[in-house]
Amino acid sequence: MADLNIRGAARNCRNLSAGDWHDDAHLPRRDVVSPHNGKVIGQVPLSGVQEVARTVEAAALAWPRWAQTPIRTRAEILARFKSLMQQNLSLLADSVSAESGKTRVEAEAGLQKGMEIIDFAVSSPNLDLWDSAEVSIGVQCQFRRESLGVVAGITPFNFPAMVPLWMIPLALIVGNAFILKPSEKVPLTSQLLAQLLMESGLPRGVFSIVNGGAEVVDALLVHPEVKAIGFVGSTAVASHVYRTGTAHHKRVLALGGAKNHIIVTPDCDPNLTAKGILSSFTGCAGQRCMAASVLLAVGDVDHVIQKVVELAKGQCLGRDMGAIIDDAALKRIERAITQAESEGAKILLDGRGQKASLAESERGFWVGPTIIDHARPEMECAQMEIFGPVLTIIRASRLDEAVGISNASPYGNAAAVFTTRGDVAHYVASNANAGMIGINIGVPVPREPFSFGGTKQSRFGHGDITGRSGLDFWSDFKKITTTWPALQSNSSVQVGQFLLHTT
Ligand code: NAD
Repeated sequence: MADLNIRGAARNCRNLSAGDWHDDAHLPRRDVVSPHNGKVIGQVPLSGVQEVARTVEAAALAWPRWAQTPIRTRAEILARFKSLMQQNLSLLADSVSAESGKTRVEAEAGLQKGMEIIDFAVSSPNLDLWDSAEVSIGVQCQFRRESLGVVAGITPFNFPAMVPLWMIPLALIVGNAFILKPSEKVPLTSQLLAQLLMESGLPRGVFSIVNGGAEVVDALLVHPEVKAIGFVGSTAVASHVYRTGTAHHKRVLALGGAKNHIIVTPDCDPNLTAKGILSSFTGCAGQRCMAASVLLAVGDVDHVIQKVVELAKGQCLGRDMGAIIDDAALKRIERAITQAESEGAKILLDGRGQKASLAESERGFWVGPTIIDHARPEMECAQMEIFGPVLTIIRASRLDEAVGISNASPYGNAAAVFTTRGDVAHYVASNANAGMIGINIGVPVPREPFSFGGTKQSRFGHGDITGRSGLDFWSDFKKITTTWPALQSNSSVQVGQFLLHTT
């Protein structure tokens, strides 16, 4: 395989257009920094309107032939892509970990989840049996899924492979030409994915990359040839992407930020609950949109909180928990903890100033698990998306009060409850206003074919980003209504050189 080595010197990211890699040496560049140790591990070009125009034009040329390629051929290419990902899993996981600060185990888990989406896309020709029915005597109606044309995906830093893979396989299997704008903080892994896609036999121009930041996003949002935009990132940018994209007549699905609540009731299983809460708020160092960030403690659950604190104290930075993406994010997290303290909350566990026991980690961006107790719903730590390993505890005396606090959040990605009672679980599942609900599960990510997506300000647009909903987002349904003139009985019709007789 060509030049997939990311372990050596810093890598120069390139743009991919029409199947050709472009250095675009005239562009300004930004350093890619490893959160583990602050080292520069690559550089990424900051493209502009011209690079977007070049890429969209090439994608528009590649699209018609790809759209007409039989879906089984498209599926075969994606199956080869998955197989190449498996063969290069170690390298890919190293890349994800190096640029995002995740642990190696987390990096690999994200890749595995991405490959599940490829599996789903590859199986879609079997799932997606086009519906047809005789709607009147001799009249047949049929649905046919059609691609949209050139479409684009804009992705965040926290899952360098998984989030792009929420979109790429689904958009490609239905016949679109896809342009990826990866996060400029983590552009390295998408270079590897692009190489593997091309090695899988994907025709040139069907998959492209334009690296950069807001300028690239804004150019994609207004380009008339881009028909749909999938976005994942913070709520402020998701709202901008949704408003601008739809104002330019594009289909947009923009997933935003989150503030997820976990409700704990006194009847819960203490061990299962403590482990579930720990992995939810410390996994990926709290930098995932499904992380629990508020624990709503209903009644006396001090024994569970004590267990969570004990488990969190045992987390080893660098082994069990990864790093924070950059210095600005680290400062934001530390400031939020200081603010909670000054507002009168009690810090049960303080991760500020902790470092990993890894080589050169003193120059990396680290914070240990932090638990803030006796917060009030109006405090900043209970409201803002801190996006770090910080658990805020709010005490509630009733279950409906806890659900009310959760529902008052402007976000609606996920909510969970830990209980051994079916009626409690049923109440939360029915009344919590979030797109994904966990019952005794702290990170309730639906597995394929169930789809991923939130509500309220965690999602602008309609539907979910994965599962069948994702296929629907990247395609149109053509409705074909057909009738045929019936052959008269006892007649003869001349068809070319043949004479057809009916009795
Ligand atoms: P971000 O919004 O800063 O960046 C996301 C993308 O938008 C990047 O590609 C970036 O280049 C681009 N961008 C940034 N600022 C822009 C601007 N002003 N105009 C146009 N484009 C801009 O998000 P992030 O910090 O990379 O990722 C973390 C956020 O993503 C968190 O809020 C997290 O909750 C959210 N997230 C949500 C989900 C979900 O499924 N809802 C999943 C993962 C991450």
